[in-house]
Amino acid sequence: MSLSIGISLGFSRFLSQDKALGKINQIKGAGLNSVEFGLLNCAIGRTNIPGIIPFPTEHQSKSILDLFGDKDYYFSVHAPYRISATTEEETKLKYSKSNLSATLKVTDWLHGHHVTFHAGSFKKKHNNKHVANVLNSWEEWRQEKGYRAKLAPEVGGKYNSFADFFTLVEITSGIENCLMTWDISHDFARGGNILDESGILKRLEKLDEGYDLNSSNRLPMHFSGMVVGKTGEKHHTLLGKGNGVPWELVLSVLKEQNYLEKVNLVCESKVPKGEKFKGDAVSDALKAREFLESNRVVKQYKGKPGNLDYYFS
Ligand SMILES: [Zn+2]
Repeated sequence: MSLSIGISLGFSRFLSQDKALGKINQIKGAGLNSVEFGLLNCAIGRTNIPGIIPFPTEHQSKSILDLFGDKDYYFSVHAPYRISATTEEETKLKYSKSNLSATLKVTDWLHGHHVTFHAGSFKKKHNNKHVANVLNSWEEWRQEKGYRAKLAPEVGGKYNSFADFFTLVEITSGIENCLMTWDISHDFARGGNILDESGILKRLEKLDEGYDLNSSNRLPMHFSGMVVGKTGEKHHTLLGKGNGVPWELVLSVLKEQNYLEKVNLVCESKVPKGEKFKGDAVSDALKAREFLESNRVVKQYKGKPGNLDYYFS
């Protein structure tokens, strides 16, 4: 399989078999071949505390894989939001590591290639060195523990979140086995230049310098529509809505550069609360796949970032 494209599927101890089956049938029906299990709200700790949703069990993980059947899927996991590599507080770092440990365990049960996670935010000045040290220590510990899934921190959507594309590649490519997750809507929301071909090419060049990417070690990529505010990301939306993420331009460049077999595309589109748009992550993933399978090429971004204008200096 050269094109790896799919959606995310929320997973926790409380996911019912029925709900899982409904979603999996939708994925199968659309012929998608990549799934990112989202453990977004899972956490370790006492389950009687409100807001604590336990991680899935090994048994649950095995049964969900059974529901997918024999077809080949590219599986990955999105870690809970509770993980932070930016915090300098020992107790918070310890709690992050415990949650990461639980996530890695589940990811291995699910045969996931990597764990995508948000590395955290900064209240004061960005301390990249600190994050690099934390990630390095997590990677060493991961290898000691024998977890197979790779670590892949994600480009943050807000200005104060860690980190922009180039910082993240620089740090993670210096760590053995580490990857990063390129969310193009986050990159866009924090003012990254993916609005013209040269900005995208510069990114691919950087990726090639940093990692050994191929069809079994793909760079995790996220795409969706995005609504942007003064601090960057506000929330995800459908493709073509919000502030106009240049997804067709990015996909055109990936295709032209023979990059599609080096990436794993996960669509994170959703209808924002209160909107009545038609569509969902599956229909947007199909939209992207149809675009890639067509002969259409987009060379220029025609969107109007609108109120983004003053961010792109
Ligand atoms: Zn994302």
